[in-house]
Amino acid sequence: MRRYSIQTKIVLPFLLLFALITIFVPLLTVQLFAWKYSEQFTHETQGWLNVIMKTGFIREDIEKVKQAYSVEIMIFGSDGTLNASTLTELPDTEQNWANLVKKMRFEQVKQALQKADESPVTQDVTLGGKHYKVFYRLLPFGRFYCLLRPMEEITNAKRTLTWSMLGIAAFGTALVAFISHRIGKNLTDPIKDLVDFTEQVAEGNLDEQCAVKTQDEIGDLALAFNQMTQELKQSRDKLIQAERLATAGKMSASFAHEIRNPLSSMRMLSQMLMQKPDTSDEQRQSLQYILEEIERIDNIVKGLMDFARPTTLNLEHQSLAPALQAVLALMEANLTHHQIQLLLELASDLPDFQFDSDKIKQAFMNVVLNAMEAMPQGGTLTVATFKQEDVVCIKVVDTGIGISKEDIEHLFEPFFTRKDKGTGLGLANVKRILEEHNGTVEIESTLGEGTTVLMWLPLIFSEPFKAH
Ligand code: ADP
Ligand code: MG
Repeated sequence: MRRYSIQTKIVLPFLLLFALITIFVPLLTVQLFAWKYSEQFTHETQGWLNVIMKTGFIREDIEKVKQAYSVEIMIFGSDGTLNASTLTELPDTEQNWANLVKKMRFEQVKQALQKADESPVTQDVTLGGKHYKVFYRLLPFGRFYCLLRPMEEITNAKRTLTWSMLGIAAFGTALVAFISHRIGKNLTDPIKDLVDFTEQVAEGNLDEQCAVKTQDEIGDLALAFNQMTQELKQSRDKLIQAERLATAGKMSASFAHEIRNPLSSMRMLSQMLMQKPDTSDEQRQSLQYILEEIERIDNIVKGLMDFARPTTLNLEHQSLAPALQAVLALMEANLTHHQIQLLLELASDLPDFQFDSDKIKQAFMNVVLNAMEAMPQGGTLTVATFKQEDVVCIKVVDTGIGISKEDIEHLFEPFFTRKDKGTGLGLANVKRILEEHNGTVEIESTLGEGTTVLMWLPLIFSEPFKAH
């Protein structure tokens, strides 16, 4: 099947319809007009003839009649000879008697006139290159009286009318073609943009947005398309992230065990060396450094193991406040040491709900540790809880160094860290723990002012959706 563009489909039917209407309607109108006019014309001329017949039709009067009615008169004898005529300037051929008689068709006219009914006997004749309508009347002694009314004006008027109507039709058709082309273009241009955009999306370019140029259904379509692309991009990013996490998890699981065993031997041996009486102070200092570094490696490995640990939740219906307080009690000395003031705003109306206490403690600890590390010069740490509809929020606010806009997007990526001794696994673990509880974590921050971490937990636990 042939492929027509939407624009052609819009323009073509309109154009054909309009062209048909604008050509046929005027032609029909002209025909109707001519028919009506000719009826009127015949009627009028019959009236004149009646008057002429009553007042005088004699040869001498014909010039007067000609002047009075702007017509030509011819009178023929019963044998067809021309008795009198106002037409003097006919070309020779037509002056020829036999020719004239033939043209005026006396035989037929005679028969028609002898039928003696009232209907007018007329005929179209061309004489000397001019068109006339001839009206016949029978005179005494078989003579004919012929009144020739010039038709030039009517023919001209008809022609002018036809041409001007066709001119208007052509102009109208061109106008309709132009307008429908514009309308079609206005409609199809945004669709073309959308098609181009779709092709880009199909090629995998999800960063572009389709420009919304119109405030109509096509505009809505573009908006919906943009939203769809955005969501597609988000889910693709999530998938990539999930894949990365899975790979990191697998790697971590295999490395962690291998590293931890030699690490504990190294730690034990270093401690033994330190306790030997013949170890010098200088050597002790070096051993101290070795132990600190071993501690650091151990932390990373622990983080990796947490990350890779199979995700089975140990859910219990319990109160949230004691879990948080347990973590804060552990951190208390550390906070005081860093000159950090703790503000506790725990909601008293929180209902008990199902969660894995150890995991939530671990997530909360990671967040508090980050807050503490963000305030090396001291500051205020606010820990608040509140309920919103059917979710509970743990809010941790610090007055620390804050996070730059570029970093915010990467916080939850495993191994993303800005700290010299960081592992970059803290927030990745927080996110995973929250997601295992079907909750979410959000971070808002202003560089130089501080950071707010919001951990949302649903009051009614349901298995999180897992893509296979
Ligand atoms: P780590 O603490 O080992 O660096 P995290 O995953 O816990 O890894 O944190 C990742 C990064 O996020 C940190 O290196 C830090 O730059 C930033 N960050 C996290 N929490 C805060 C905070 N409260 N204030 C400022 N920066 C933070
Ligand atoms: Mg951390």
